[in-house]
Amino acid sequence: PRDRGILLQNRRIHEQEIMSSEQTFIAVKPDGVQRGLVGDIISRFEKRGYKLAAIKLVTASKEHLEKHYADLKEKPFFPGLIAYMGSGPICAMVWEGRDAVKTGRVILGATNPLASTPGTIRGDYAIDVGRNVCHGSDAVESAQKEIALWFDKSEINTWKQASHDWVYE
Ligand code: ADP
Repeated sequence: PRDRGILLQNRRIHEQEIMSSEQTFIAVKPDGVQRGLVGDIISRFEKRGYKLAAIKLVTASKEHLEKHYADLKEKPFFPGLIAYMGSGPICAMVWEGRDAVKTGRVILGATNPLASTPGTIRGDYAIDVGRNVCHGSDAVESAQKEIALWFDKSEINTWKQASHDWVYE
């Protein structure tokens, strides 16, 4: 019975680890980098309790951005979007934690900044949908695809956050 207790406890820890290991791709777009918003955007995810798993500054090629936004290639704004996203460095990140994809989108705000509530990144810093400062994956499946597109496996860090047990019950 004692072993069973330990096994159950281990299973509970394992389940909690899985629940707090969802990853999302978050990027500060070129306008956000130019406007000096990188630190603020990182801070919001850090302070919320999310764990930074990867980060780098990249000036993305047209081909890379066309892959990233492949689903939007028929949209009238597509050429402008690709030019905007390639106009300067992007701060690409992977953030990890419970419900990171959905909550990441809440932290970002609505796609159209005018529909974003104050307190969100876009609701605090943006006006135009074509200059909306940040990107966040919209589903777990797209997060996995985007992380694989922007990062090599060797760039993703596995580490235990010192605050983990204070952030999660
Ligand atoms: P999100 O980035 O919130 O997931 P979408 O995937 O629909 O939104 O669009 C990708 C990006 O394309 C948006 O973040 C925005 O920068 C740009 N975009 C979307 N709609 C428009 C539009 N009507 N005009 C110009 N740019 C747009």
